[in-house]
Order: sequence, then C-alpha cells, then structure tokens
Amino acid sequence: MHVALVSVGDEILAGDTVNTNAAWLGQRLAARGVDVERVTVIPDRIEEIASVVSEYRSEYDAVIVTGGLGPTHDDLTMEGVAAALDRGIERNEEALSWLTEEGGYAREDLTAGTADLPAGARPLHNEAGVAPGAAIEGVYVLPGVPAEMKAMFETVETEFEGEPRYTSVVYTTEPESALVPRLEAVRDRFDVSVGSYPGDGVRLKLTGADEAVVESAADWLRERVELDE
Ligand code: ATP
Ligand code: MG
Repeated sequence: MHVALVSVGDEILAGDTVNTNAAWLGQRLAARGVDVERVTVIPDRIEEIASVVSEYRSEYDAVIVTGGLGPTHDDLTMEGVAAALDRGIERNEEALSWLTEEGGYAREDLTAGTADLPAGARPLHNEAGVAPGAAIEGVYVLPGVPAEMKAMFETVETEFEGEPRYTSVVYTTEPESALVPRLEAVRDRFDVSVGSYPGDGVRLKLTGADEAVVESAADWLRERVELDE
C-alpha cells in the first residue's frame, strides 16, 4: 500500500511548528509495511488543499491529511478536501450525535460548523478533542493537535496494510565514503535495501521482507565494519 501524507498549516511552513505528525505517521505506517511516498506541507488555503489532495488521491492508495480542522477561520481542510472530491460540505449528523452523546457536549455549546464534513464522509470521532475527522474515498482527515491526531489514527490504523518488513541497524564510526564497497557487497549478497545515514558516525539501516535474511546481512556487515558501540 502506497500512502501520501499532507500536513496543512502555515505555522509548519514558517518553522514555528515542527512536523512531528508526519514523522509519527511515517513510523507507524512503516511498522505496518505501508510505504509512505510523499510528505507535503501546504498552507491553510482551500485551493492548495484541493489540488494536492486531488492529485495524490489519483496516485496513491490513500492520502492522510492532518491539521486545519474545526470551525475557526483558518480551518479550511474539510472544505479543501470536499472540493478535491467535487462534493459540498454538510453537517454530519452522526458526528454531531457522537459529540452530544459520547463527547458530553450540548448542541448549543458547539461552535457552528464543528460537525461540518464533506458530504457522504464517514466521521472519525475525536476522543482527545472536539473537531471530528473524516474518511472518504481513500482520504483520511485527521486533527493537527498531535494527541488528537494519534488517538484518531489508531481508530483507523487497521485500514492501512502492507507487506511486513524487518529492519536491523548497524552503527559504525567509519566515514561514509569508505563504506561504499561493503555496502554494495551486502546488497549483492542479501535481498535487503540499505540506508546510510551519516551524522555522529554512520547509521546503516537494513530493511527486507525476510527477518532471517535481514539479520544475516546485519551480522555480515557487523563483522566487516568498525562498530560504534
Ligand atoms: P483544532 O481542532 O484544535 O483547531 P486543528 O486540527 O485545526 O486543531 P491546527 O489548527 O492545524 O489543528 O493545529 C493545532 C495545533 O496542532 C498547532 O498549533 C500545532 O501546535 C499542532 N500541529 C498542527 N499540525 C502539526 C504537525 N503536522 N505536527 C505537529 N504539530 C502540529
Ligand atoms: Mg485549528
């Protein structure tokens, strides 16, 4: 399964907010064997949201959009997603009932527009906040607040499935350039992909579909590089 992540928010583009939502979703999806192939940050603008969601929906199996929910003036995500799907926005009675019955809110206390979702969407309840999310035609709309986003993602997580993958990490003190021939050799010998991430030393990440093969490849490398332990 191939997925695109879209993070909506002027504050992320400005660097005021670090995009921890995309990092968290990336890890959770990778753990399920789902390939995240795009992470795109866009401003709080309906046209941008509509055009990116529309493009990614045709290219990927699912699109997860975070941020910009709720009824305030800069919350435009539901409108953008609705426009991408050529739908309108309408009050979602199921979302509203959940908010009053399970969420403990009185209808009159909810800001107008709180339960407005793209027409025909399945509401996703917000266990950690107020604004509901939505799932429609492979597009999942989740809140921006990390705790709310995480709780809501967990209610739909099983809808994301891929081939299980295994990883093993080897840390070395050697410079990346010196490792090139050994990295080529390990890829030739074993059915694994190898990521090489320099920083303080180099972090080598081996990934593959067969756990035993990944472990053998990691052992093979560990015997041939200077380990950082
Ligand atoms: P609300 O329903 O409370 O209005 P929301 O879904 O509209 O929430 P935003 O208004 O986009 O979410 O963002 C709320 C807060 O969540 C931001 O101030 C920011 O701190 C945090 N946030 C938003 N997007 C991200 C992100 N991609 N990564 C980390 N934090 C984020
Ligand atoms: Mg908001």
